[in-house]
Amino acid sequence: MKFCDIPGHDEVKRRLKDMVLGGGRLPHALLLEGPVGAGKLSLARATAQLIHCTNPGADGEPCGECRHCLQHREFNQIDTIYSYPVVKGRGGSATTSDDYADEWRRMLAEQPWGDEELWLRYLGNENAQPAIFAEESVSISRKLSFTSHDASKKIVIMWLPERLNVTAANKLLKLLEEPLEGVMFILTSDHPRQILPTVYSRLQRIEVPAYSEHEMAQWLMDAKGADAESARSAAALSGGNLIAAERALAARDGSSGEMFTRYCEMMRLAYQRDVRSLKRWSTDMASLGREGLIRWLRYASEMTRKNFCMNIGMGNLCAMPQDERQFSQRFSRFVTVNNTEGIERQLQSAAIDIAGNSQAKLVLFDMAVKIIMLIHRSQTAS
Ligand SMILES: [Zn+2]
Repeated sequence: MKFCDIPGHDEVKRRLKDMVLGGGRLPHALLLEGPVGAGKLSLARATAQLIHCTNPGADGEPCGECRHCLQHREFNQIDTIYSYPVVKGRGGSATTSDDYADEWRRMLAEQPWGDEELWLRYLGNENAQPAIFAEESVSISRKLSFTSHDASKKIVIMWLPERLNVTAANKLLKLLEEPLEGVMFILTSDHPRQILPTVYSRLQRIEVPAYSEHEMAQWLMDAKGADAESARSAAALSGGNLIAAERALAARDGSSGEMFTRYCEMMRLAYQRDVRSLKRWSTDMASLGREGLIRWLRYASEMTRKNFCMNIGMGNLCAMPQDERQFSQRFSRFVTVNNTEGIERQLQSAAIDIAGNSQAKLVLFDMAVKIIMLIHRSQTAS
């Protein structure tokens, strides 16, 4: 992660670059504090990469090409320890960040601005109360006791230290009170007031403000290819939060939101065997036009596959917005090994027919009637 991959925050970036490259002593423990979606974790990652980079540019950016930079990109830089809240294992057994390292890498690779809500989805447990448990502090302290692999600085990036439980926080405090040579902590917090005061007072703090509407709109245009009007409107709804801005932009495009509603409606009517309403649904759908329909059929096929994954207990592998996941938690029991292939085949063959200029509403109605039968075959032995 380079600083230039993170929108805005020119002043914060300048301070962080000066801190690393200015020749002064690095703080033992730094806290980046500010609202959700302000890019704090990304700033922490860029800072760690700059510290390790062997060939930083004149612009204060890590080079992106040296061995350490490449390792940072793959999340396997040996002297970088990530620590974050997790959920207890089966039967309440103790867990540490290491137990969820794959999920963590996957989230950051797919959504670098990931927030706690998204993280819970990757953990496969949206109702859990994630925490950093005492075992995690023990694990960090053990990792720090090994000699550094490359004689480079060991950096602990701790996401959401407000989630440290009291025992874990007290153990961490010991590490902060007696700093080890060659070790730096970079903590990023959405709710700094919830950090144990004795820990908080040990941290050198940098405030990372919410994005301004102007910064956000600029980013949506530059990085997301939004037109000026959509960017302005999504930025206004975002509250300075990168993830909220992306969602607002997607909703404005009508992309996922409307497609999802149409999928739910078809499946609900198919389940109710409501042939008459499905006929109306097919006529309405035809107004999407050929390209729109093909896009929707592709989306419907993807949603069906995700529901099947959920049915077989692999839902945590599917990235889904909250509304889709809530629907799928109920609907996925109807997408089983008996019918998933059949449903996907119907959706795909409808796409082929529509691409070949067949009359859309007839194709869709025919497909919907076959899906009625398939949905009701979910529990039958094949
Ligand atoms: Zn480098």
